[in-house]
Amino acid sequence: MDYNNFDYEKLTQVFTGLDERYANVFSFGKSVQGRELWCAGIGGGEKKVFLNGAHHSLEWITASLLANWCADYVDAIKSGGDIGGVNARRLYSKCTYYIAPMINPDGVELVVNGLNPNNPAFESVTELLDGQDVDKVWQANINGVDLNHNYDALFYEYVEIARRAGYGKPGPRRYPGVAPFDQPETEAVRKLVLEEEFPFSIAFHSQGEVIYWSFEDKGFVDIGRELADASGYSLDTATGISSYSGFKDWYLDKFNLPSFTVEVGMGTNPLPFEQFESIKEACYPMIARCAELV
Ligand SMILES: [Zn+2]
Repeated sequence: MDYNNFDYEKLTQVFTGLDERYANVFSFGKSVQGRELWCAGIGGGEKKVFLNGAHHSLEWITASLLANWCADYVDAIKSGGDIGGVNARRLYSKCTYYIAPMINPDGVELVVNGLNPNNPAFESVTELLDGQDVDKVWQANINGVDLNHNYDALFYEYVEIARRAGYGKPGPRRYPGVAPFDQPETEAVRKLVLEEEFPFSIAFHSQGEVIYWSFEDKGFVDIGRELADASGYSLDTATGISSYSGFKDWYLDKFNLPSFTVEVGMGTNPLPFEQFESIKEACYPMIARCAELV
């Protein structure tokens, strides 16, 4: 598989190719345009770790990362080899990873394959773009809602901040929607999390090589240090407009369980694919470490 320009088709191909003896692939919902929200459950252990990627369309490299991890992990389990410096079979017996690489498949489609005139949202997206290039600016879902501002954590405070900052209506980024979970993608994540009761989660974004560990007065800094140690990324607290109504914010606020935002790579989104190997080098050991931290 070529993990460059990683869209929904490629994710579907990788996930349908995972050996069913080790990976339980299921859809936990559908996007606005009817694409499946894929998740792979891999592991035999009782502990659960939830990893998700590509809430933001320009950050599709996080879906490449998580899908490639799934494929490599299953291969390593079968061969008895290592992944991220840890024996894969040991990891498998300790913990079950739930991996949802692409929360925003409709947005990724726009960025990777362009705005096709056949797209049912061609006219609305064209209007929201207002002359900007879709593959340089589009972070939202197909409705122009920024999914990582659509969670229930100081949501209405954020609505006001966003409005004052010029994000008061649908657009390529930062618009939070009308109410928390009013988009099918975030509602599906909410349901999955409530059903599975994951005690630990990470949302992957790009970029910055940094791990955000807190929301308001909540957070698990010691676990964050472990993730930083495993990846070589730095540890920080988010401030300003980025510090409201995201997945990690909701998770910490609602459940008071460890949750992190990991910003992979460095540069301008979408990151150049040349960084993929170095991103894997940093993130594979961190993902493997999660099993020790849950
Ligand atoms: Zn992001």
